[in-house]
Amino acid sequence: MSLSSPNRKTIATLLAAALMLPTGCDRSEPQDEPGSPPAAIAAGPSVLLITIDTTRADHLSCYGWPETTSPNLDRLAERGVLFERAYVQASVTPVSHACILTGLHTYNHGLRFLHGYEMTTLPDSCTTAAEFFHDAGYDTAAFVSAFPVAKRFGLHQGFDVFDQDFLTGPEEGRVSQQGTINTGLNQRRADKTTDLALAWLKKQHDPFFMWVHYFDPHDPMVVPPTDFVDPSALTGTQQEKLRSLYDAEIRFMDQQIGRLFDKLDLDNTVIAVIADHGEGLGDHDWWTHGILYEEQIHVPMIVAAPSVPAGRRVPHNVRSIDLLPTILDVAGFDAQAQPAMDGQSLVPLFEPDAPDPGLTIYSDALDLKMYRFATLDPAIRFVDRKPDMLLSLIIGDHKYIHHFMHHQESELFDLAQDPDESHNLAQASPEIVMRMRQELQALDCLPKRPEQTEKPMSDEDARRLRSLGYVGGDEEEEEDDD
Ligand SMILES: [Zn+2]
Repeated sequence: MSLSSPNRKTIATLLAAALMLPTGCDRSEPQDEPGSPPAAIAAGPSVLLITIDTTRADHLSCYGWPETTSPNLDRLAERGVLFERAYVQASVTPVSHACILTGLHTYNHGLRFLHGYEMTTLPDSCTTAAEFFHDAGYDTAAFVSAFPVAKRFGLHQGFDVFDQDFLTGPEEGRVSQQGTINTGLNQRRADKTTDLALAWLKKQHDPFFMWVHYFDPHDPMVVPPTDFVDPSALTGTQQEKLRSLYDAEIRFMDQQIGRLFDKLDLDNTVIAVIADHGEGLGDHDWWTHGILYEEQIHVPMIVAAPSVPAGRRVPHNVRSIDLLPTILDVAGFDAQAQPAMDGQSLVPLFEPDAPDPGLTIYSDALDLKMYRFATLDPAIRFVDRKPDMLLSLIIGDHKYIHHFMHHQESELFDLAQDPDESHNLAQASPEIVMRMRQELQALDCLPKRPEQTEKPMSDEDARRLRSLGYVGGDEEEEEDDD
């Protein structure tokens, strides 16, 4: 598939052409037959995976934020390894989580979109972390906090317990600051999720694999940690208030993570924490997520376990798809026992002065048109609209963002010289742009035909997404801003 730029009228045709090939974990399966148990270890350590939705790295104190937003994660980093340059492979919740839970690139696991298209469900043929641990004899449980990681997206595969009861629970009547968005049915606060996870831990036997997903920092700010901050008491502009609320919600989430840590047997547990994406907070004129600037794809990532060196900080570029192979390595599963993954174990980087593995970072953002975020300020409502599909590569210090539909707007940055991505070097460095485009083409990363098992997005699912601030639908397709 060419990366040349189509106009808006031909995008549907191009997508249809791209859909001619099958995808979704149709690459070689692991050495084991699907469903057959991997070489189990007798009594490995338990594993806790925490995903902190919508948490950009630079707002955690262990990543240099001047205020103490994350004391419990800071403590975890002191006990383990913190990756200073970790990147997610998508900034859309289910897509990014699929990468984290499979160790596969988006174009190999096949969950490409949040909604509005097919390819919104992780195919059954993918091997997830939970399926792997389940087959290895672990008890598996997930406690998630919002609809975008619900069973509907296929992320529940392999979990004995998958708790998403907020989808059927009583309406809480929570209403956004705008007075329009009620998310009582579609997400829950970190304290409730933590209560359920702790109740399960009390009953459970080692070893376990538990995934806990927190959603509090996610926009819009409709799950306010009211114990921590009264939004009406915040001073400053509306934008400053939003940023303050964001930090307050990180603080609240971190406190709940601390409750979880307090009840764990830290001598026998591998703990991994990663965000599924960051948040714009006004940077690059973008308040939410869904695109590929640093504030959206550079995320916190920490791994701690008794066997992991304490206080190590890895300065090299790494990927969310590397987290699962790293967890499996730390938990004692050798490479032959692991499922086929695109990521690689980062354990060699735990050594002091380990050389840079020179990883290429691929990320994509394919359903941008689905994003519209109503801010608190009527003057800047719906700033988050940009009809394009983006594919990015980071190789060394260079970051290239390919604009699929308006390729003349593609961007090239030198992250060493320009970490804020304010100087587009694409015009000045055509040879680097050309090389990046060739690399992208070689990846064959555009969407292809989904499996027959694909569940179409129902009206009810679409309604839930709208309740969380995601807006999309066919009516969006006709708008023209060329
Ligand atoms: Zn998310």
